Amino acid sequence: MLVIFDSTVIVANLHLVGPNFSVLLGAINEGVIELAVPTIVIEEVVNKFKEKLIKNIKSGQDALKEVSSLIRHETPFPVSHEELDSIVDHYKTNLIDRLSELRAIMLPYDNIPHSAIVARSLDRRKPFSGGGKGYRDALLWESILRGIDDKYEKIVLISGNTSDFGKKEVHPKGPHYEFHEDYQDDITNNFNSCPISLCKDLESFNQKYTFPNLSQAVQIRLDLEKDTLEGLILKDWLDDKLNDIAFSLQKSEESLAESLGFEPGDISNLFFIHYSLVSPIKIDNVYKLTDNIIVIECDFVCQFLTHCYLNKTAFFKLSQIKSITINVNEWHDEGAWVDMFINLPIQVIIEYNITEKHHADYSVSYGALYGWCPTCGLPVISNTSDHCLFCMSKLFGFRGRYLDFAEENDSV
Ligand SMILES: [Zn+2]
Repeated sequence: MLVIFDSTVIVANLHLVGPNFSVLLGAINEGVIELAVPTIVIEEVVNKFKEKLIKNIKSGQDALKEVSSLIRHETPFPVSHEELDSIVDHYKTNLIDRLSELRAIMLPYDNIPHSAIVARSLDRRKPFSGGGKGYRDALLWESILRGIDDKYEKIVLISGNTSDFGKKEVHPKGPHYEFHEDYQDDITNNFNSCPISLCKDLESFNQKYTFPNLSQAVQIRLDLEKDTLEGLILKDWLDDKLNDIAFSLQKSEESLAESLGFEPGDISNLFFIHYSLVSPIKIDNVYKLTDNIIVIECDFVCQFLTHCYLNKTAFFKLSQIKSITINVNEWHDEGAWVDMFINLPIQVIIEYNITEKHHADYSVSYGALYGWCPTCGLPVISNTSDHCLFCMSKLFGFRGRYLDFAEENDSV
């Protein structure tokens, strides 16, 4: 199986570290998965890295200037503009080293004739749709078509730009993405019968393809559940990390919009005023990655008091829900500034070294969400269960009312 990274995968985790990359590396070392990265992606990522760095140096310098004047003591900022280019070069070298550790095949774009891109653009074939946009995606796609041979039984492109490449299909196990027809035609013409699919991020790729191949660490899971695993008590770990977790979730407002079933931008300027745990941490899976390393998938529910901007779509839908409290601060033509109390499921993946007894890293995301329980107001995190997993109230499967109705009909 071959997996291809779009830039969103690397921009989300600029140094390619953490449990999801460890799991991927494990599968690569076992020869189950191969990785390919178009060189256009690397250039784009390095550019994004530089932009991010410039923006943060600027705001850091401004804040430090303010602090210096408050305390009347000059403090030098650790990074200067003169060092910028060498930091960026250093990042690029490290990124390429890390990708070669992951044995990535590079897909160049310098062999793509300009005429191919122009023809695509004139035909308005995806990614072009008029207006000349889509040049980057065209280079990316053409480098895939040209750089990959048809020996793979399956190919997956991981891209956060799912709407550029495909369309979302509703699926009981969460959203599923299909390529647009123009891409489907290219796939049929270039790869014969090899199916190529689309995934939105490395987390969902691992959930679908990598985790199922790992073996479960049953005893360690029992120890974790009983709080007897040496060096790692999950609730203490969570107490310690909750601030960092909230900070990283606050930055991913697009993922929040998506997990609530909205478009990116329907919820914006997200700021958590307060957050607190409302459910104990629940272990979903404990996988054994190597003899020393385990990967723990777990989730919990957190209540957030958020300050944010909701556009009309998000406002009308969220204000219908009994368990969400919304106070409007300011009405606008297209939406409103609000304070909102909302319960959200959070998923965490922790990588833990059981021999050295330290956790290497973790990743966090908004968990699957199907709605909120009408009884207790906590999120519904499974649509295959007939009862609420928190208050145990039965939501589906009891046929009382239906039977009454049937009996009435019978008697008529
Ligand atoms: Zn409930």
